[in-house]
Amino acid sequence: MIRDLRKAHYRHLTGVFLLSLLVGGIFGYPWVFVSCVAIGYLIWILYQQHKLISWLIKGAKNSPPNAIGLWGVVFDHLYRVQKKHRRQTRQYRETIKRIRTSTQALSDGIITLDEEGNIESWNKAAVKLLKLKKVDIGHPLTNLIREPRFLQYFNNDRPTEPITIDNPAQPARFLEISMTVYGEGERLLLLRDTTRLQKLERMRQDFVANASHELKTPITVLRGHLENILDFNDDLPPGLDRALNSMALQTKRMNNLVEDLLILSRLDVDTQDAPSQPVDMHTLLEQIAQDTRELAHNNGTPHEVIVDVQTTQLLLGDVGQLRTAISNLAYNALRYSPEGGKIALIWRDSSIGGLISVTDEGMGIAQHHIPRLTERFYRVDQGRSSATGGTGLGLAIVKHILNHHNAYLDVQSTPNKGSVFTCIFPKKRLSDAPLEATG
Ligand code: ADP
Repeated sequence: MIRDLRKAHYRHLTGVFLLSLLVGGIFGYPWVFVSCVAIGYLIWILYQQHKLISWLIKGAKNSPPNAIGLWGVVFDHLYRVQKKHRRQTRQYRETIKRIRTSTQALSDGIITLDEEGNIESWNKAAVKLLKLKKVDIGHPLTNLIREPRFLQYFNNDRPTEPITIDNPAQPARFLEISMTVYGEGERLLLLRDTTRLQKLERMRQDFVANASHELKTPITVLRGHLENILDFNDDLPPGLDRALNSMALQTKRMNNLVEDLLILSRLDVDTQDAPSQPVDMHTLLEQIAQDTRELAHNNGTPHEVIVDVQTTQLLLGDVGQLRTAISNLAYNALRYSPEGGKIALIWRDSSIGGLISVTDEGMGIAQHHIPRLTERFYRVDQGRSSATGGTGLGLAIVKHILNHHNAYLDVQSTPNKGSVFTCIFPKKRLSDAPLEATG
């Protein structure tokens, strides 16, 4: 802390002035004497300034020059500030060194990028994963990783989930990249080799796909034979027809399950976004509504199924996948609502994008089940799902299909009143061009 010496300094100056005036007065030249003292004082100030500048030029490393009064205080203060600054710089250097050492020791790769996306720094693991070279410093990372999915992820200011891509530097290896944007647009990327996990995941997918595929033929044969036998229902001994009917029902369930598993396997394997074919929603919803009515009729439950198309916008997507997703929602609406219930299939656009809603006046779903509905085999009511031929995979399929269309599912439901399942598509999946022009 610098002492406030101003008062003492001004007192000194006044004292020297009065004393020189007095001494000068005794000799009969008061102002000449005062002027000589003032010139002497100025010379002393210039001398102190000279000492200060020489000390600063030498880097102010040694103790400051000796001086009395105000100049002494200034020198000491500067010296103390200088020392504190040097100590802090040393501490910062040590901290940075420690962070660098620990970052280097990490098994995950780390790369930092400046606001322009140029590589600033990396750790050893990142060098190994991406085979980085010194010349890459200062160059855009997107020169090294050019996969379109990564570029899309990279340009997203608020990425949520990490992305897995083929490692561009190592064939047949996978890289999981998780990006954080901070400061003025700088980015930090965390890289992990997930080849083992990906292989396990691929094995799981292959196993489910192969098992489902292998089961499909025997189930089809069983179904065929059972149907043939049941054609002679009247000739069957009593009791046996009940058993055969139950077998037919169970094989139908197995068949549905295998088909749903095969759909999920195909969706799992396909990591690309769905194509952007223009889909006329009026035609599609009408077809689904008709199928749903027929199913309702088969069950002897006359539901009212209506289509409400509120926009002429076309949806850009895969018509087959969209049909599967909306049909699943429509059949659920049918299966989980009582006879005579009204089901609506609605297509409209909004400020957030295109919305397909399937509404029903059925049993509804308690709030706490909603976040888990799209999990595979998650059922609110196991008994009802099985009794109505549910596989427990319908909404998982819907979720996958929507993911492929960069869309998501919103569920609003009130127990005993009904549910609204809404598929929300981004604006880029809408087109207002006439069907002929886009097709
Ligand atoms: P499931 O084949 O069992 O219907 P889904 O994945 O299609 O499997 O649905 C999961 C669960 O969500 C269902 O078991 C059911 O409990 C609930 N659910 C789905 N749709 C509706 C609906 N419209 N109304 C009430 N519950 C529903």
